[in-house]
Amino acid sequence: MKIAILPGDGIGTEIVAEAIKVLQALDLSFTMESAPVGGAAYESHGHPLPDSTLQLAKDSDAILFGAVGDWKYDTLERALRPEQAILGLRKHLGLFANFRPAICYEQLVNASSLKPELISGLDILIIRELTGDIYFGQPRGRRTATDGHFPGAEEAFDTMRYSKPEIERIAHVAFQAARTRKAAGSEGRVTSVDKANVLETFQFWKDVVTEVGQSYPDIALDHMYVDNAAMQLVKQPKRFDVVVTGNMFGDILSDEASMLTGSIGMLPSASLNSRNQGLYEPSHGSAPDIAGQGVANPLATILSAAMMLRFSLKQPEAAARIEKAVDAVLTQGLRTPDVYSPGTSKVGTREMGDAVVKALG
Ligand code: NAD
Repeated sequence: MKIAILPGDGIGTEIVAEAIKVLQALDLSFTMESAPVGGAAYESHGHPLPDSTLQLAKDSDAILFGAVGDWKYDTLERALRPEQAILGLRKHLGLFANFRPAICYEQLVNASSLKPELISGLDILIIRELTGDIYFGQPRGRRTATDGHFPGAEEAFDTMRYSKPEIERIAHVAFQAARTRKAAGSEGRVTSVDKANVLETFQFWKDVVTEVGQSYPDIALDHMYVDNAAMQLVKQPKRFDVVVTGNMFGDILSDEASMLTGSIGMLPSASLNSRNQGLYEPSHGSAPDIAGQGVANPLATILSAAMMLRFSLKQPEAAARIEKAVDAVLTQGLRTPDVYSPGTSKVGTREMGDAVVKALG
């Protein structure tokens, strides 16, 4: 088994170093090889996703990714900006299913901006389709309007589209995830989020998800409009189990869900293709505001490494060891500044990584 390590920019290098430490402490047999990505790769190779980095990613069973981006690249042409590396990896590896669990650790229940009773025990999974929708639909561009309210005016347009196989494969992923979670004690429910009342694409989405759902009689299916879903996520987030939605709605809702649990520094994510090859990364960005200070929370990245062991490397026991160790360091009262509260012990990135290694036992 081979893991491509792509630390990237900003806090990416700091947090990935801690995840590597944890992986090495497990004493499993896999190889790790690093390559530059994002702004770091632009500096060294003139492109955010050099061919050599893409080839390493393709040749690996899994990719552990830090984060990319920095304000200083904002004036570069779009194709050379660091964030293009993620889009390129998704496209070239066919990573269509994005998993974002939002789990509230009891020890951090007071770190959320929501009332503790709303989020205590929260354990939901947002599954976002990653390769279709209005983000990639063609045609797109700028032109002179020939109709609409202002004929002759300059206008911009994008195309929202989903094919049946695209919807079917993400729906199967969601139902299967709900089944796995049900076996571990969850409710066994998929909530499909759409905007079928307004958009043709999402009426089709709803119809196809309903059809796929008939093959999973053990899993409950409900449908919710995206505006209501955004509201319910903060009103009663525990009513959800697995949420499945398209690329744009998922982009927004998964960030909203990530904040339910207090800090984005706690939340892992996985993006998988049909061969279970995956890119594993924290849900947050490169945090240029705190980069280099040794204060970033490495737990989202360490938990992403656990997801990698579970999904792509088929090492569920090792994944569970990491998750237990993270739980243990939180119980010990160790906190990076983003989740610190009086009465707990403030630690830096490296101390947190060391503590997780120690807690692996
Ligand atoms: P961000 O997620 O980097 O930071 C948002 C806030 O959360 C900041 O205050 C930051 O300090 C804090 N934060 C993030 N991760 C943290 C951690 N592990 N520990 C403690 N605090 C943490 O989002 P942003 O500031 O909007 O974007 C910064 C850069 O990251 C931009 O260039 C953006 O394009 C890029 N970005 C990259 C990814 C990615 O690589 N997948 C995702 C989102 C944003």
